[in-house]
Amino acid sequence: MTVDLVVRNCTVVTPAGRTPDAGVAVEDGTIVAVGRSDRLPEADRVLDGEGNVLVPGIVDCHIHNREPGLEYKEDWESATRAAAAGGVTTVVGMPNTDPVIDRPEHLELKFERGEASAHVDFQSYAVVTSENLDLISEIDEAGALGYKVFLGSTVGDVPPPSDGEILEAMEKIRETGKRLGFHEENGEIIDHYTEQFQSEGKNEPIDHSHSRPVVAEREAVERMVTFAEETGAKIHMFHVSSGSAAEAVARGKDRGVDVTAETTPHYLWFTEEVMREKGNVARVQPPIRDAEEQDRLWRVGIDDGAIDCIATDHAPHTPEEKKVDDPFGNTWDAISGFVGLETEVPAMLTFVDRGRFTMEEWVRRHSTNPARVWGMYPQKGSLQVGTDADFTVVDPDLEWTVDSADLHSKNCVTPFEDESFRGKAVATVVRGKVVARDGDVLGESGYGTRVDVDNE
Ligand SMILES: [Zn+2]
Repeated sequence: MTVDLVVRNCTVVTPAGRTPDAGVAVEDGTIVAVGRSDRLPEADRVLDGEGNVLVPGIVDCHIHNREPGLEYKEDWESATRAAAAGGVTTVVGMPNTDPVIDRPEHLELKFERGEASAHVDFQSYAVVTSENLDLISEIDEAGALGYKVFLGSTVGDVPPPSDGEILEAMEKIRETGKRLGFHEENGEIIDHYTEQFQSEGKNEPIDHSHSRPVVAEREAVERMVTFAEETGAKIHMFHVSSGSAAEAVARGKDRGVDVTAETTPHYLWFTEEVMREKGNVARVQPPIRDAEEQDRLWRVGIDDGAIDCIATDHAPHTPEEKKVDDPFGNTWDAISGFVGLETEVPAMLTFVDRGRFTMEEWVRRHSTNPARVWGMYPQKGSLQVGTDADFTVVDPDLEWTVDSADLHSKNCVTPFEDESFRGKAVATVVRGKVVARDGDVLGESGYGTRVDVDNE
C-alpha cells in the first residue's frame, strides 16, 4: 500500500521511551504506522527527519489568542501561525476576550473565527462568573473544552465569583464531566498590597511582583482544593509560579482530589531578578518568583510530579501597552503578559539538554498530559495508530538566540528576547499536513479545526 506521508529517519520519543531510526506513516490525516524507518510503507510524500527527534504534537492548553474583540493584540490567525512555527499542533484559547466567552453564542463565535483562520487545531475555555451559573450545561453542549474562573482581578477585568458561587459552579461542572481551571491568586491580598504600594510610591517593576506575594497563590490553591474535595469536581491550576503553590497541589493530590496543574517556561527559566534586568517587559500575573521558590517549583513540581503540564500563558500586548520604550517606568502603567508560543519548545529542549529532565518527561508534560487533563487524549497527545497525525520534529542540537523580529505573532514583546536556546522545532505536522518547516509557516489559514470533545 502507498500512504499519503511518511516521516522517516527520526528518533521517535513518547513518554514510554524512544526508538532510534524510526518514523510515522500517515493516511487521510491519521497515523497508520509507527516504527522502524525500513518497515514503514511506501508514501506519496517522504519527509526525511535527518536524524532529528519526532514527538507527539505539542499541546498548549493556555494561550490568549485575543479574538474576538482584541485583534489589535493578536487573533486566531496570528496566534496559530506562531504555534505552527513554534512546533505546537493544538492550542486552547482563554475566555477573557471581548465579548468574554461566558455564553454559548460567544463560544460559537470564537469557534467560527477559529475555523475561518487557524493554522493548527484549537479549542476554547468558557469563563464562569456570578452571571452565568445557569448557562453551564448549555455552554457544555456548545462544545467548550473546560471552564475557567479568575479568582482575582487580572487582565480583562473579569469580576471573580464569590466562594459560594464557585462551590455551586463546581457542582454544576462536575455534572458535565469537564474540568474547571483557575487563575489562582487571592484577589483581596493582591488588592490590599497593590493599593498600599501605590500609596507609598513603590512603582518599580519588582514592586508589581511583590504586590502579588506567594501566599496569595498558595491560599487560592488550598481553598480551591478544599472546595473540590467537598464537591468532587475536577480542577486545574493554571500557571503555577511557585514551589509553595506546587506543594499545595501535591497535598491536594495526596488527599485524593482530582487536581491537575501546569507551569510555564518563564517561571522555570527566570527568577524575579529579571524584573531588575528587563523591567516591565517581564511583568506577568502571577509574577516570576525568587530563586528559592523556583528551586522548589523544580523539585516538587517537576521532579516529584505535582505539575502535570507545561503551557505558555501566551499573552500578546502591543509595545505601547508593554511600555517597551521605558521598561523601568512606573509599573502600574504597564500591562502583564507576553508571547510564548515560539519559545516554549526551545526552552524545554534547553532544559533537557542541561539534564533538568528527560526528553520522555518533557513529552509527557507538553503533549500527553495536557491532552489527557482536558479530555483530548488519545486523539491528541499520542502517536497511537488511528489517532490524529499530529507531531512535532525537533532538532535538539540547534543553537540559536531569540530575536523577536523573527517571531510570528502580531505583537512579539517577550522577556526571552536575546536568550539563547539549544533546540528548536524543525517541522510541525497537523493531521498529516506539514504546517511549518524550519520556522516557515506553510499551511493555509483556516486548515486548523476545533477539537471535538463531546465524547465524555
Ligand atoms: Zn493566562
